[in-house]
Amino acid sequence: QPLTSCLLPTIKARLAPEIWRLLEQASNEAQSRGWHLYLVGGGVRDLLLTEANQPLLLQDIDLVVDGFHRATDDGAGLELASKIQQMYPQARLSVHGEFQTAALLWHKDPTLGNLWIDIATARTEFYPYPAANPEVEASSIRQDLYRRDFTINALAVRLTSPKKGEFSRKGDLLDFFGGLLDLRSRQIRVLHPNSFIEDPTRIYRAVRFAVRLGFTIESQTEEYIRYAIASGVYERLRLENQQAPALTTRLRTELKYILQAEYWKPALQLLADLEALRCLHQDLILTNQLWWQIRCVSRWLKIIDPENNFDHWLIRLEVLIAHLNPSERIKVATNLQLPKDSLQRLKKLEQIETEVIEKLPHYQRKSEIYLLLRQYKYVSLILLSVRTSKSIRRTIWQYLTRLAKVEPLLNGNDLKNLGYQPGPIYKQILDNLLIATLDGKIHSYTEAEAFIQQNY
Ligand code: ATP
Repeated sequence: QPLTSCLLPTIKARLAPEIWRLLEQASNEAQSRGWHLYLVGGGVRDLLLTEANQPLLLQDIDLVVDGFHRATDDGAGLELASKIQQMYPQARLSVHGEFQTAALLWHKDPTLGNLWIDIATARTEFYPYPAANPEVEASSIRQDLYRRDFTINALAVRLTSPKKGEFSRKGDLLDFFGGLLDLRSRQIRVLHPNSFIEDPTRIYRAVRFAVRLGFTIESQTEEYIRYAIASGVYERLRLENQQAPALTTRLRTELKYILQAEYWKPALQLLADLEALRCLHQDLILTNQLWWQIRCVSRWLKIIDPENNFDHWLIRLEVLIAHLNPSERIKVATNLQLPKDSLQRLKKLEQIETEVIEKLPHYQRKSEIYLLLRQYKYVSLILLSVRTSKSIRRTIWQYLTRLAKVEPLLNGNDLKNLGYQPGPIYKQILDNLLIATLDGKIHSYTEAEAFIQQNY
């Protein structure tokens, strides 16, 4: 049964006034068409979790429309979104036809910021076979909420006034599955036992919400996770399911959220405790060695790339994948549709490893080390470094933090001023100058000049 206390004052107090106004306009539009409009999902969860005197920066708003005649109003969400867009012409409207969901997006808007509003038409989803994409059909709000992942994400607030004879009121919290209780006892609980079989990405979502919110995964829900993993739902998916690309895209998105979050370490530990890394590959286990490697790579990245020019989350994922047999790496990376760069790195890792391990221990001079390692990309060297011996690791570190940054003491202009004719010889001179600098034979501009005059 819906809870009866009106949540509108709470919502109004916590939201920015411009967003509140927008919600009011949307609810008036729905009301005038005889529809119901609900605020649902993570927004309701976050509003209820926010302290009374704290404002909430809500940038993702999920709305659901229902209460219409199924045959005529299938596109209610889209109609409502179009109407709002007329009032806010700066918003971009996009439609996911398949799911009857319309989205309104604001980008760097002076008052609304980067706001994203999804307006869905209430629907039921049927899962004809495990992990398939849902078939969509217009239906009621209860069924819409029932298809969601966890009780704390299956709460709704009614934004419209009821029609004649209806029980609930504007501002009511609709809590059909005990979400409020779970919010209070800080638990992640699924709505039904088959949840993880239907959609295995929910395992990663459970972990993400648990760690992010400081909640625990309720014990029965944990059992369902373990059961889904033990039943090998992912393997089946990869082999049989034509819908796998959509699912693996979502899995990659969840992995990205987890591996780029500041809480990635406890989240990865929890995934490992649940054996959920087997969803990437059945042999993937977070051994002590792998755990050390991934932390070490992250420390290196922090120092070598403080500006985050590389995708640190992706490199962490590559460390996990690189732990598998070389023949399996590309399969997993391709299945997850990782970017080309990533695939290339994983493909070449074994070959680079062999070359570096074979040659580097024989090189003494800094220039030799430099000339060998400069053939490889930084990220490949970082991936390789944690998989090799301590002495090779030290040398790679020396290369990445010092040698790779050494520049020749003169440049092309200086050579011109010294009277050399521009041409391919410049590259040769500057390269040799760099080698001499790396090996400590020259230290200053004057010494560099003398070096060139002696040799060319
Ligand atoms: P966040 O704050 O991380 O954005 P969120 O709850 O808003 O959290 P979204 O991924 O934006 O998460 O999803 C919005 C809502 O859609 C969720 O609250 C949930 O109700 C529903 N949802 C999202 N993914 C799934 C899924 N895989 N299965 C079922 N319901 C889902």
